[in-house]
Amino acid sequence: MITSLQDIAARISGYDASALPIAQAREFLDRLVPSMHSVQTVSLYDALGRVLAKDVVSKLNVPPQDNSAMDGYALRGAELNAQAPTSLTVCGTAFAGQAFEGEVESGQTLRIMTGAVMPAGCDTVVPQEFVQLADGRVTVPAGVVTVGDNRRLAGEDLAMGEVALRSGRIVTPADLGLLASLGLASVEVFRPLQVAFFSAGNELRGVHEVLDAGCIYDSNRYTLWAMLKRLGVDVLDLGVIPDEPVALAKAFCQAAETADAVITTGGVSVGEADHTKQVMAQLGDVLFWTVGMRPGRPMAIGRIPRLAGKVGGGPAGKPASHAILFGLPGNPVAVMVTFYALVRDALLAMSGASAQPLPLMRVAAAKAIRKKPGRTEYQRGVVSVDAQGLQTVRITGAQGSGILRSMSEANGLIVLHHDQGNVAAGDLVDVMPFHALM
Ligand code: AMP
Ligand code: MG
Repeated sequence: MITSLQDIAARISGYDASALPIAQAREFLDRLVPSMHSVQTVSLYDALGRVLAKDVVSKLNVPPQDNSAMDGYALRGAELNAQAPTSLTVCGTAFAGQAFEGEVESGQTLRIMTGAVMPAGCDTVVPQEFVQLADGRVTVPAGVVTVGDNRRLAGEDLAMGEVALRSGRIVTPADLGLLASLGLASVEVFRPLQVAFFSAGNELRGVHEVLDAGCIYDSNRYTLWAMLKRLGVDVLDLGVIPDEPVALAKAFCQAAETADAVITTGGVSVGEADHTKQVMAQLGDVLFWTVGMRPGRPMAIGRIPRLAGKVGGGPAGKPASHAILFGLPGNPVAVMVTFYALVRDALLAMSGASAQPLPLMRVAAAKAIRKKPGRTEYQRGVVSVDAQGLQTVRITGAQGSGILRSMSEANGLIVLHHDQGNVAAGDLVDVMPFHALM
């Protein structure tokens, strides 16, 4: 049974919608969002960035046999003299993909190439640059190798029966290679999350429209589209919706019919004179938050039901009868910050991905930073390397939540935590690097 949003709120200690610490907001979203069940089989090329729906268990050893890690000579390690050079007769050659058919007898060595299967009885490879070769014999100086050197063991990369990759993992370039090394041509992944979004506001114009007096171009749909694309979800852009109840209600319903999640920007501020909040509250189970963060305080969170009689209109295989609503503030920087601080992880969880905590760097502040305890601040920062080769971070100029340029200039967000106060020059601060996000 789906609990109401109030029920979820009641389970979170310290919940206060009018001053919600970021940790509680994250906990709330964690409890709110459903997880993905619908599974697809895709070829390796289509698996990059997708979420694995099942553990991948290795059906073979990688590598399948012991083999050489160097171009050199395979020998019995026990036959090497520790104090004096050892002389051995070369009995043949093994190539990668073409094993040596004969036997390596005592007193013999086998010329071997990288990746060639180790001959029976041999356990060590001496790299060719260490030996002298004359008249079909090699001389191995004392002490250049120890037993087992330069030999790769069967299954040392992946052992048969071992879990190679876990369900919930977002497939990386290395994972694709790993899957191929197991001989897998396809893999089971969750279907992509469908995310619909629109901008709300009478002042907003599209980039192909004339900019009427008092109006601005809608930038949020472009940053949102881009952030969603990077997350690997399927996007549905519903455009700019005017501040008009019928149009807004229609947009919300259309979005909820086709998507797992709906993201809006604008119209959720305290004291907002438009209809967005009203329509949200009428259409679904919606809470209006003031989050203890800067920028990005006002936010709406909710569930919008799919219209009765239109069952099956949602994404294929989707059991949930609701779409999750993320009503973000309108200011362009606030949109990006709330997305990274709250929405990103919720969408990843909905996609079936296991928690992917953002890697934070600890970097020394180049100058003092003012910060009030009792809210989480996300200041736009530039990490650079100083004359001593140490990384320091400074704040970009103006930090206003409407100054999108600050996000373009920055290479990360300085995260000043809820209880943290003023930062002195040289203090270490947490930085969320954009290259891990964008
Ligand atoms: P709101 O949250 O609707 O009060 O909007 C806060 C500020 O963000 C206002 O200055 C809006 O004009 C601006 N804003 C809202 N939506 C957008 C958008 N899609 N693109 C650019 N600016 C916006
Ligand atoms: Mg507005």
